[in-house]
Amino acid sequence: MKANLSVENVTVAFGGLKALNNVSIAFPGGQITGLIGPNGSGKSTMINTISGQLTPSAGSVRLGAQEINGLRSDQIAVMGLARTYQIPRVPPQLTVQEVISVPFSYVRRKSHLAPGIGDERSIAEFCGLSPVVMRRCGDLSITDLRRLEIARALACGPDVLLLDEVMAGLSHEDAHAVIEIVRRIHAAGVTVVIVEHVMSIIANLCDRVVVLNQGELLADGKPKDVLSAPSVREAYLGK
Ligand code: ADP
Ligand code: MG
Repeated sequence: MKANLSVENVTVAFGGLKALNNVSIAFPGGQITGLIGPNGSGKSTMINTISGQLTPSAGSVRLGAQEINGLRSDQIAVMGLARTYQIPRVPPQLTVQEVISVPFSYVRRKSHLAPGIGDERSIAEFCGLSPVVMRRCGDLSITDLRRLEIARALACGPDVLLLDEVMAGLSHEDAHAVIEIVRRIHAAGVTVVIVEHVMSIIANLCDRVVVLNQGELLADGKPKDVLSAPSVREAYLGK
């Protein structure tokens, strides 16, 4: 069964600022949904709330039939939801293999990926990290750090994967390689939510797009409809 994810009437406040204001979105299992919006619109706050780094001040988050808001992020990972970080957070002294091995020690889920892609080395290979598997994280390129973010999330064996700007700062060619990894993860049956600034990537990769603007849901639909909607264009132009 492909996992459904939903947020219902979620509000997240930082002091007086509502980073998310009564937002409801359903992410149907098996799809790639693009989560877009101008800077500061609440995309990372949404990812942080779904994955348990933040607790909403109102509303609920469901993974399948289970309510997950209020659970810790490690508990949510064990239930099948993994994420990457917009700013890679890896201890510089650890090797790539060591970082990928950490989730194995506490998550231990069966992977959706092809049989045989289940240990640290096969996940590293799947993510194009074989040449650097013994390298320390402090010595990695930005591309390899992005690949490692994905590999670490895959080591959780997720049903649902949240990607926060995983292509940011990459060359066109490197971004393309990462897009192919995302496609293969989706093809294996993983539900994907991707935050991404480059609209051509969203248009080509996603089944559907949801748009946040100033903490509110602005649009939800097929990429070609949403990306051409006047309200979405205005939000990006800051009118
Ligand atoms: P996006 O990822 O769409 O660029 P964010 O979700 O990071 O936006 O931020 C949404 C809003 O919430 C912004 O105005 C941001 O400054 C604010 N914000 C985010 N995290 C915090 C925090 N930990 N404390 C206070 N304000 C925050
Ligand atoms: Mg962000």
